[in-house]
Amino acid sequence: VAMKIDIVSVFPEYFDVLNLSLFGKAQAKGLVEVKAHNLRDWTHDVHHSVDDTPVGGGAGMVMKPAVWAECLDDLLGLEPRESTADDADADTGTNADTKNVDAADGDVTDADATATDTADTDIANADIAGIDMGAESSRPVLIFPNPSAPLFTQRDATELSHADHLLFGCGRYEGYDARIPSYYRAQGVDVREYSIGDYVLNGGEVAVSVMLEAITRLLPGFMGNPDSIVEESYTGEGALLEHRQYTKPAEWRGIRVPDVLLSGDHAKVDRFRRDEALARTNEIRPDLIEALDCKALSKADRKT
Ligand code: SAM
Repeated sequence: VAMKIDIVSVFPEYFDVLNLSLFGKAQAKGLVEVKAHNLRDWTHDVHHSVDDTPVGGGAGMVMKPAVWAECLDDLLGLEPRESTADDADADTGTNADTKNVDAADGDVTDADATATDTADTDIANADIAGIDMGAESSRPVLIFPNPSAPLFTQRDATELSHADHLLFGCGRYEGYDARIPSYYRAQGVDVREYSIGDYVLNGGEVAVSVMLEAITRLLPGFMGNPDSIVEESYTGEGALLEHRQYTKPAEWRGIRVPDVLLSGDHAKVDRFRRDEALARTNEIRPDLIEALDCKALSKADRKT
């Protein structure tokens, strides 16, 4: 199998659709192996609860770290830690809550500091945690969708399409306890948090589906026609929006396709499309033009 994908959610059935269409075919071809897990399978209480009230007050519920940790330790192949007081699902009063949080905050600070250390330190931590680092590419990547994280882009999709193992954790309610990503980073795990856009969804399932599709369609053999992913919006060195597309007939309801596209002159067609891509990007997404490496623009491009 080219890429192993684990998804953790309280609604794993949401991912049944991955058996359809191109993704279903990719599974049948052995390009990807996807498993959607139910987070509640790692709970121990009768209610299978995965959330608790926010420390510090406020509306809604927050996903508990202890349940996620049992699940992630399992799926990442980490040695399960012996259950400690701060892992326990104690029904604590206000004083006890405050005490636990203080101790845990200390942990997080340590964890964050370690995460910014060198790769060597990461590997040392991973050894401690029992991760088989092996070749760099076999390192699992743990991904949490989060609206208050950096934006997920085509560049991220391209990078992640080279990973061997992706593990997605779908948040729900007000989100997941912030110590979860900090803790795993400190264990040497490659942890990413991404937003898929400036809006808030009910849960991470849709966001994971979006990221998963953007990543896996880049896998060799995934698309019927591999050329269709080469020239696309946001792709390549000068990542622009794509030119507009037309099919036959040449005239439809009185609207003609641009004449140059019918000329058969490939150089002219290429120039026309490039100019249109530049003009549209400049109009719709000037930020992409500003971010362009000057070398990505030819003399002819600059005229446009
Ligand atoms: N309280 C959070 C906030 O205001 O930033 C919103 C939590 S949202 C209702 C629940 C979960 O949905 C999040 O933990 C995340 O996993 C997912 N989610 C919602 N919007 C998202 C977005 N734009 N990008 C990625 N994930 C999103």
